[in-house]
Amino acid sequence: MPATKAKPAGKRSAKPAPASSKAIAAPKSYKPLDQERIKELLKRLNAAYPDPKCALTHRNAWELTVATILSAQCTDVRVNMVTPELFAKYPTPADLARIEPEMIEPDIRTTGFFRNKSKSIVGAARKVMSDFKGKVPDTMEELLTLPGVARKTANVVLGSWFGKAVGVVVDTHVYRLSRRLELTKSDSPVNIEQDLMKVIPQEKWIDFSHQLIWHGRKICFARKPDCAECPLENLCHAADKTWSTVPIHKTAKP
Ligand code: SF4
Repeated sequence: MPATKAKPAGKRSAKPAPASSKAIAAPKSYKPLDQERIKELLKRLNAAYPDPKCALTHRNAWELTVATILSAQCTDVRVNMVTPELFAKYPTPADLARIEPEMIEPDIRTTGFFRNKSKSIVGAARKVMSDFKGKVPDTMEELLTLPGVARKTANVVLGSWFGKAVGVVVDTHVYRLSRRLELTKSDSPVNIEQDLMKVIPQEKWIDFSHQLIWHGRKICFARKPDCAECPLENLCHAADKTWSTVPIHKTAKP
């Protein structure tokens, strides 16, 4: 099997080789969705992130819904800076349902896209009050009726608050890592979720997405992933690896 020039595992190269410049086609025998490979990936993710939790601060399903809407195109750290004051001013869906969206724009401005997010949050609060007696619903079908809530937000709320594995959260980290790890070739979040649901056992869906999110934040960065420190390194053939002991696959793109 052709390989990039191997370097000793666990040691950071003084000058990491640009692995992608040595990209080669994946050998025919390689099966990225092989059950043994998936098992090993999950085992290593469990070891690295044994108790993965949602990084968005929340005390109930409503706060998690709002925080997840705010997290679009924004870091969780930034969202967590904004939500305590927002929830102190407007603690319940009822409080947000009776105001106009413009009133919360200053509170959430720093999370970006604040006009749309204000409309979504107030719209969701009104829907929760009018259709669900003030309680965030716990089914995918009902959650998707809330303004600003698509499958990603619904999966976060269902998984992290209600403990229901209905789907896999596909955020920017899960998108990038599942493509680098060749768990999908799709490039739309909806199709990536479907692909992941086929290869990851359902009882792992909630933890798996949190683990990929943490891994994306700590090691598998969008630019210059820290491959020399990655516990998945010899299972990963991503085209943009910064360091590799295994062949690089030119189609394994983030
Ligand atoms: S080896 Fe590199 S590209 Fe692959 S998962 Fe780890 S950090 Fe990401």
